Amino acid sequence: MKDIIQFLPKKVINQIAAGEVIQRPASVLKELLENSIDAKSKSIDIFIRDSGKTLIQLIDNGEGMSYNDARNSYQRYTTSKIKTNEDIFRINTKGFRGEALASIAFVSQLEIQTKNKENKIGIHILVEEGKIKEQIPINMLKGTRISVKNIFYKFPARRIFLKSSKIEFKHIINEFYKIILAHRDIIYRFYHNDKIIFFLKKTSLKERIKEIFIKNKKLFPILIKKNKIIIEGFISKPNSSIKKGNHFLFVNQRCINNILLHKKIIHSYEGLLKNIKTVSYFIFIYIDPILVNWNIHPTKKEVKLEEENLICNMIQQEIKNILCCQYKVKKEELNN
Ligand code: ADP
Ligand code: MG
Repeated sequence: MKDIIQFLPKKVINQIAAGEVIQRPASVLKELLENSIDAKSKSIDIFIRDSGKTLIQLIDNGEGMSYNDARNSYQRYTTSKIKTNEDIFRINTKGFRGEALASIAFVSQLEIQTKNKENKIGIHILVEEGKIKEQIPINMLKGTRISVKNIFYKFPARRIFLKSSKIEFKHIINEFYKIILAHRDIIYRFYHNDKIIFFLKKTSLKERIKEIFIKNKKLFPILIKKNKIIIEGFISKPNSSIKKGNHFLFVNQRCINNILLHKKIIHSYEGLLKNIKTVSYFIFIYIDPILVNWNIHPTKKEVKLEEENLICNMIQQEIKNILCCQYKVKKEELNN
């Protein structure tokens, strides 16, 4: 019988891999923000044009890269964050797969300018279709400036699948929100089409929630410490508005989707109060990295937690305690 299996060409492999990590402009912003955070930046400036369809640029004051590191950074599976197989089981950086810059370089025009503290002069490289097209030394301060232009410009089929500017911008802002909630010791400036949209200073979690999400409503703090697991954050006072609430759940400072936990949180309210339509929560779970497996989803939006049931129950019980206490004290407030 005729053999039918063949090795895929490199271009096809790259395209499949890039498609998993980079779905839309917001995925680029997420990856670039995570890299700036891993580089210990204290200030990050973000410049977006056309909802990220033509430009996503980040300027950070992090550790920067050496000449050779910059030249390797956009290759597939190159990373400074892990070395061995065991390291995968104790991840404490945002990145580790060494895929983001490679995927971005494959689907867009990528410009990297960077300088670390050891080098007097920085490097500028322009990468197109995964290859260096231009490389020049430049004068710059320590840090990194990355520009991602014209996402999917060589992939008309994928460009067509991008949504309206309004929807893509919503996705961009949502990724930005996840980062600014978890990393509050950084100064952020965010520009869209040259207009400043956010200028955020260092702040506490409570102040961040109030400045961006829930301006005048009451927040109830959560704090649980048990079996080396720490859970902290805030839940909102429930109300009957039909506007969707803000739901943010973090594990070791990374925002995740977890349907089970979401249902349990919402259910804790339903058991106590009728006609609740809107609930917001901002919950941070801190757990030993050894009990967390991030290696199940390319963008790490899902996670495997060793103690998932225990954690779900701890959060549910605590929310019930808080609501019971508040309900007794301020019954009218909870019923409106
Ligand atoms: P990963 O983050 O998984 O390591 P990436 O493709 O996102 O993979 O980045 C590759 C490498 O490039 C990183 O490991 C890091 O060493 C370097 N790098 C990327 N962005 C920055 C940045 N803003 N500052 C310093 N180094 C960076
Ligand atoms: Mg990365």
